[in-house]
Amino acid sequence: MKYQTYLIKYGEIGIKGKNRYLFEDALVRQIRAALSRLEGKFHAYKAQGRVYVDCEGSYDCDEVTEALKRVFGIVGICPVVRREDRGFEELKKDVVAYMDEVYPDKKITFKVDARRARKTYPKTSMEINCDLGEAILEAFPEIRVDVHHPDVMLHVEVREDIYIYSEIIPGPGGMPVGTSGKAMLLLSGGIDSPVAGYMTAKRGVELEATYFHAPPYTSERAKQKVVDLAKLVARYSGPVKLHIVNFTDIQLAIYEDCPHDELTIIMRRYMMRIAEHFAKESGCLGLITGESIGQVASQTMQSLMATNEVCTLPVYRPLIGFDKQQIVEVSERIGTYETSILPYEDCCTIFVAKHPVTKPDVEKIRKSETKLEGKIEELFRQAVETAETVTVE
Ligand code: ATP
Ligand code: MG
Repeated sequence: MKYQTYLIKYGEIGIKGKNRYLFEDALVRQIRAALSRLEGKFHAYKAQGRVYVDCEGSYDCDEVTEALKRVFGIVGICPVVRREDRGFEELKKDVVAYMDEVYPDKKITFKVDARRARKTYPKTSMEINCDLGEAILEAFPEIRVDVHHPDVMLHVEVREDIYIYSEIIPGPGGMPVGTSGKAMLLLSGGIDSPVAGYMTAKRGVELEATYFHAPPYTSERAKQKVVDLAKLVARYSGPVKLHIVNFTDIQLAIYEDCPHDELTIIMRRYMMRIAEHFAKESGCLGLITGESIGQVASQTMQSLMATNEVCTLPVYRPLIGFDKQQIVEVSERIGTYETSILPYEDCCTIFVAKHPVTKPDVEKIRKSETKLEGKIEELFRQAVETAETVTVE
């Protein structure tokens, strides 16, 4: 079926009281951005407390639906058949044709729900309900009316044109990106951090990201994989500014000077410090990681505490209570899984100790870090200065 308009249902935005228009405006902006890359001409706008998208030119309805399914803030997408008002007899034909095409199996119950945004229309809503209901019953002997629990609620809206719709495709929910400030995602090539980014963006947060690599220990392909993951997350979050930090010298220094069972924790502390540097530079209000309690040695409560200690910004860990299986499910659903499991090396796994501490003592970690004094400042400065920044869309 060819649809000419989409009616967008939004959930939580509706409870924002006086600020509601800000959320609606952000939603319209995000819809425009999501459709701007598709073939066709689209017009997204607010009207009478609703959001509509009118489509023109040559466009693919499935593509439009898929793009809208990635816009946070949308809870339902209703594909609408929009027809010029050519009189009531023509409307009857249009409605019958709609039912015929959208519901090939007619063993269903239905109810017509008419609304008149255009009050000069010659029939009342009640009359439209009755007359269209009758036309449908006449056309399809098997079909029944059920005014209480119909299988199909057929909406007919009389506006300038006439809008016919009955299907609601679920949207992703959440809040439109751009309504909650910005945060810095520590993005690795794994399964977890892209999911953490997705979940935070879903709450309306704009994303920036930092990736640490260790050439020549990690390859160009490992880096490309992270750029690709950032692109996949950007399909939901909008453009992501990605900082790619060369972490090799810092890692080598830690490896030379610090106890090997503390390598991972100390490394993670430097990652947080550098990510926070970029975060503050660009006005981010927090850091995001893909950590989950107890997943690996560096994610025990004690390790998280040691990592957290160096941060002054809040650290958001949306996966904190998720099991790996749950994280995998989200990553499959949002389309990052296939890329995440590509086998390229990660800088964390290269300099890893055989028996990392699982209950690091913060005092001891701090003391180990003093061994880096005198050179780490310069290495930190170099890492920040030589970082490459790309914006992925
Ligand atoms: P992931 O699947 O996200 O890589 P993980 O299970 O491999 O997570 P760790 O490697 O301990 O867990 O990393 C925990 C978190 O630290 C990651 O989710 C990510 O936010 C951050 N992180 C780890 N390595 C890097 C890296 N090379 N660059 C940027 N962030 C990283
Ligand atoms: Mg990892």
